[in-house]
Amino acid sequence: MVAAFLSAISAVTPDARLTDSHGRVIHDLRVSITDRCNYKCVYCRTGEVGPQYPELGIDEYLRMIRLFVGLGITKVRLTGGEPLLRHGLLDLIRALAALRTPGGEPLDLALTTNGHLLDGLAAPLRAAGLNRITVSMDAVDPAVFERITRVPDSFAAVLNGIRAARAAGLTPLKINCVLLRGFNDDQVEGFARFAREEDVLVRFIEFMPLEEGRLWSPEIVVPLKEIVARIHRVLPLLELPRREASETARRYGFTDGRGEIGIIAPVTEAFCGACSRIRLTSDGKIRTCLFSQVEHDLYGRLRAGASEQELRAYILQTVQTKEARHHIGEPGFLKPSRSMVHIGG
Ligand code: SAM
Repeated sequence: MVAAFLSAISAVTPDARLTDSHGRVIHDLRVSITDRCNYKCVYCRTGEVGPQYPELGIDEYLRMIRLFVGLGITKVRLTGGEPLLRHGLLDLIRALAALRTPGGEPLDLALTTNGHLLDGLAAPLRAAGLNRITVSMDAVDPAVFERITRVPDSFAAVLNGIRAARAAGLTPLKINCVLLRGFNDDQVEGFARFAREEDVLVRFIEFMPLEEGRLWSPEIVVPLKEIVARIHRVLPLLELPRREASETARRYGFTDGRGEIGIIAPVTEAFCGACSRIRLTSDGKIRTCLFSQVEHDLYGRLRAGASEQELRAYILQTVQTKEARHHIGEPGFLKPSRSMVHIGG
C-alpha cells in the first residue's frame, strides 16, 4: 500500500497517471453539481424525497476538479441530479474547457442530462466548450415516456433537446435508456429504429439496485443477451470491437452499416476490472465506486484549509481504496446509503 502510494505520488509529472491498488488507471471523473432533478423517473425516485445534499459553489467544484486533473484525470463528466438546473453551469464549462492536463491537452468534457431544458441550452453549452452530451431517454413512445418521468409534455421537450444538441454539434450524441421488465422493455425495437432515424447512438443500460425505493430485483433487469437477440430479430446486428479497454458499452452495428447501438451491462456482464472512474458528489465527497459503503470528504478538508499538496495526497490515498468490484446480486449485498440521483449517474 505504502509503495503504491509513493509510486502514485512520483507519477505526478507531465504525464500523470492516477492508478489504484488493483493496477487500474483512473482517468474519468464524474462530478455531480446538484442532486435536484426536474423528473421523478419511477425507477429512480420515489417522488416523495427532494434534494438531500448541499450544493457547493461553482468555484469550489472547479478547485476540486483542478486537483484531479493535476493528478491524471483527462475526462470530466458533469451530472446530477439534473445538471442543466444548476446556476453557473456555463461558467463552470467555460472554466473547465480552459483547463489543461499536465501534458498540455484539453479535457474531454461531457455532460449527462435528461434533456428537458436542452433545447434552449444546447448551443450555449457547445459555445462554452462542452464536447459531448448524453441524454437519458427511457421510451420512444410519448405516453410510456411520460408515465416514467411523471412530467407532462416531457417527451416533446426531450426530443427537441436531442435535435438541438445534434444541430449544435454536440456529437456523437448518445442516448441512454434504462430498461425495466414490465415498464419499458417493449421499447427495445422502437429504440433501434430511433437510433437510425435520429442518427444517435442508443445505449441500453441494465437497471442497478440504486433506486430511492425498493424496486430492484434480478427479474426486473433486462439482460444484454436478451436485448441483442430481440433487436437482431428485426434489424440484424454485428458485434463491433471495443475502442478502448475501459469502454463500458458493448457495441453492435446494424449489418446494413447504418447506425449502431450499445449495451452497458453492469449486472450480467460487470466490467469492474476495467473501471477507470471515480466520482465527486454535489457536496464534495469522493466515491470510489457507485456501490461504495464509504465516502471521502474532500470538500471538508478543502474547507478546513488543507494545502493543495495535502488535498492531492488525500485524493491519491483515496484512489488506493477503490473497491475491486461490486457485489450486485450476491448474498449480503448492501445498497449504498445514497441512491443514483444523489450520487450522480
Ligand atoms: N438527470 C440526468 C439524466 O437524467 O441523465 C443525470 C443524472 S441521472 C441519475 C443519470 C443516469 O442514471 C440516467 O441515465 C438514469 O437513467 C440512470 N439511472 C438512474 N437510476 C439508475 C439505476 N438504478 N440503474 C441504472 N441507471 C440508472
